[in-house]
Amino acid sequence: MPANRENLPGSAQDTIIVGAGIAGLACAQRLHDSGHPFIVISDDVGGRIRRSPDGGTNLGAYYVRSDYTHFNRYAQLGRRLDRLAIKRHSEAGGTYILRSPRLLLHAPQVVRFLRLLSDFRRRYNQFKTRTPVIGQAAAIRSDPKLSQLYRQRASEFVDEHRLGDLANQLLEPGIHGTAFTTLKETSALTMLLAALPIVVPTYEFTARLDLLVAGFEDRIIPDHVTAISSRRDGYIVHSQVHGQLLSRRVVIATPADSAARLLGLPSIKKPVDAHMFLVEGTLRHPFSQADVNLFPATDDTFAIATQANGAILVCSKLRDPDLNRYFSRWRVVAHHYWDPAFHITGDDLLECEQGPNLFLAGDHNIVGLEDAYLTGLHAASRVIESARNESDEHGRSLAPADG
Ligand SMILES: Cc1cc2nc3c(=O)[nH]c(=O)nc-3n(C[C@H](O)[C@H](O)[C@H](O)COP(=O)(O)OP(=O)(O)OC[C@H]3O[C@@H](n4cnc5c(N)ncnc54)[C@H](O)[C@@H]3O)c2cc1C
Repeated sequence: MPANRENLPGSAQDTIIVGAGIAGLACAQRLHDSGHPFIVISDDVGGRIRRSPDGGTNLGAYYVRSDYTHFNRYAQLGRRLDRLAIKRHSEAGGTYILRSPRLLLHAPQVVRFLRLLSDFRRRYNQFKTRTPVIGQAAAIRSDPKLSQLYRQRASEFVDEHRLGDLANQLLEPGIHGTAFTTLKETSALTMLLAALPIVVPTYEFTARLDLLVAGFEDRIIPDHVTAISSRRDGYIVHSQVHGQLLSRRVVIATPADSAARLLGLPSIKKPVDAHMFLVEGTLRHPFSQADVNLFPATDDTFAIATQANGAILVCSKLRDPDLNRYFSRWRVVAHHYWDPAFHITGDDLLECEQGPNLFLAGDHNIVGLEDAYLTGLHAASRVIESARNESDEHGRSLAPADG
């Protein structure tokens, strides 16, 4: 996107946002609406929202739920994902859909799980309304149950609630297919989030980032930030193209690994990586019988999704997956390697505030478009609050003394 000359760095900035993924753009939009000065510096626009070169398919974030109340304003919804057209493949070789007769054998587990999911959904919705106000980490801490789910491993949750059969047949392929990890390695909170599409309508989508950046396109500057150093009156943002940029306030809205390098964070969650392939071809039976196939943790394939437009996405651990296993004929038309895709293993909980006038936004604690967006809103409100405090202090220091 072109940057206006007057917005190009050279003079000291009030606020620099590093990263133009959904978190950085949400922050930028809120600052723009408030009339607060800022620039965004980023390698690209959209981050992990990425379309295939033909513009037809998401190679990064794939679905949105109807409860993405903020993000969906910038999403054109596509096909609703039919829960009965999602096949989960089990380690033993069986396939399951919701309402699979074999699941009826475990009806008490299903009922127990749906109750737990419903309680989680209620808490999670309340947590989302708190996030822009008090920040994501504080919003998690303020609900003891959510806080426990954040720290508890999904496999322990499964044992505690005697959900073993359901875990094998539904939950493990669900978490592996969508979060590229296992119940042993991820939290109960991540597992419950990944299970929300069971009860919340979920859609394919096309992001409308053009709507999101409308009015501040010219403040997004393509560049790569290599370091941040602090000064008495703010920060120096070191960038590859524009050199050293001074800014009073900085928001880091990059993925966790990049944020850890820039901020010197001692510990972040562990990453997972994934190869996304856009394939033209003909799927074999039984993979052709589902819109989405989710595979168990023992498989190198995470998921295969046939889009409404007929294009097929294969998501795999491997750079060269054996596509003959799934296709009778195939041709890879696009490939993207997400390394990392996201940071999801562990219970590190990162704060928005990383220093005086230094803020962090993004999916470091909870992965997903809506939650990342909400962290951006909170970072923006912290920026505005810090500027207001400064101007109040300045006003007080200029005010004539009483008497
Ligand atoms: C394959 C895949 C599938 C997914 N599926 C879904 C899904 O179906 N639904 C869902 O809700 N979520 C999904 N997600 C997760 C979702 O995409 C992310 O949680 C969300 O996009 C994170 O947004 P962000 O702004 O925090 O980070 P990002 O989108 O990664 O944005 C970070 C930005 O920072 C920039 N940047 C990084 N380092 C620097 C630097 N040093 N200097 C300058 N710029 C820098 C990057 O270029 C990028 O623009 C998926 C992710 C992947 C990878």
